[in-house]
Amino acid sequence: MKLWNRRHWLKALGAGSLGLGSGAWASGSPSADRAGREQAAAADASLKLVDFQPKSMLHVARTDVARSRFPVIDIHSHLGWTTKAEKGVASGEEVTLLISAADALAVMDRKNVRAMVNITGGTGKGLERSIQAFDRAAPGRFFTCTEPSYGRLRDPRYPQIQADAIESAKRAGARGLKILKTLGLYLREGLTSGPLIKVDDKRFDPMWEACAAHDLPVWIHISDPEAFFLPIDRFNERYDELGKHPDWSFHGGDFPSHTELMEARDRLFARHPKTRFLALHVGHDAENLGFVGASLDRFPNMMVEIGARIGELGRQPRTARKFFDKYQDRILFGTDAVPPPDGENYPQQVFKDELYEIYYRFLETEDEYFDYAPAAIPPQGRWNIYGLGLSAEILRKVYHDNGARLLGLPS
Ligand SMILES: [Zn+2]
Repeated sequence: MKLWNRRHWLKALGAGSLGLGSGAWASGSPSADRAGREQAAAADASLKLVDFQPKSMLHVARTDVARSRFPVIDIHSHLGWTTKAEKGVASGEEVTLLISAADALAVMDRKNVRAMVNITGGTGKGLERSIQAFDRAAPGRFFTCTEPSYGRLRDPRYPQIQADAIESAKRAGARGLKILKTLGLYLREGLTSGPLIKVDDKRFDPMWEACAAHDLPVWIHISDPEAFFLPIDRFNERYDELGKHPDWSFHGGDFPSHTELMEARDRLFARHPKTRFLALHVGHDAENLGFVGASLDRFPNMMVEIGARIGELGRQPRTARKFFDKYQDRILFGTDAVPPPDGENYPQQVFKDELYEIYYRFLETEDEYFDYAPAAIPPQGRWNIYGLGLSAEILRKVYHDNGARLLGLPS
């Protein structure tokens, strides 16, 4: 009714002839008017994007995959994290654990997850607490990574202090080092102020070398989807996601571009050929598998994992399938899982049965056009995905064997 009135109001103003009306509005005959009213009642052009939740009318196969075909190592999860952080820079050793080992094991056992790697295990006493709560509570089921302590960055002895911390973490039971995008996008000369510190800053060289010397691989995440570096406007394909998490935008200010971050990362990989790097989120460039493939060709010390990027892989299933064929020994299964309630803020990462079922459906079946996250609105971008239908041989490697090799476990 409201629209009908609006249409007449516009007509009275002569708006139709000025081209302000469109479609049915623009016509003048009585029958077209009636059709126009019906169409208007059916399709309210003022519907907000946030309220638009189209249901697919496709009648296509739906395969439920409750358990993975082979046991899984989830190489990328966050079962806890350092409690204190300011402007993206963590401080102190206190950790907040987000779930108990017993509660995590219940999901893992149902979903055929043999082991999980908690990559934000913290430092010092916090690292010890993380290892106690998970690795020691259920040996073989959990592995923990340590993180750099950036607090003493201004100390001239920092490069050696940080290298020594890697050795202590290894002795405490850490299985790797996790680099958050703190490095490159948050950490500054004055920790939270001053110029940003580059990914390949030489002060960290002894740390990377210590990782090689003590056989601790590096889980690294230093850039984000390309759309996070663009204006949040009507052309941005991750508009909804950035609307919910505006702090994920790295557009403007003194942020480096996505390309600059990747170039710094590549210099780092080249300079430390004995250090093994697991480049998270499909090498932080799941939109550009050609580039990721070229990076893998160039750096034998690089591997990738797929956490929180099946939305990207699954919208380019033919390209992704070729990528899995070619790099089947260097792609690891990961989900970036975060236990609820925190995880509910990121539906594509919430640690629950449904999350694993979607990953398994994506990797194992050839189902078409389905949700990549357990959410009413696709949380990362408004599209759906297509399954890859990987072979048993590739599934076994991606689910388990490649991760086992990284962690030094028997396959
Ligand atoms: Zn993560």
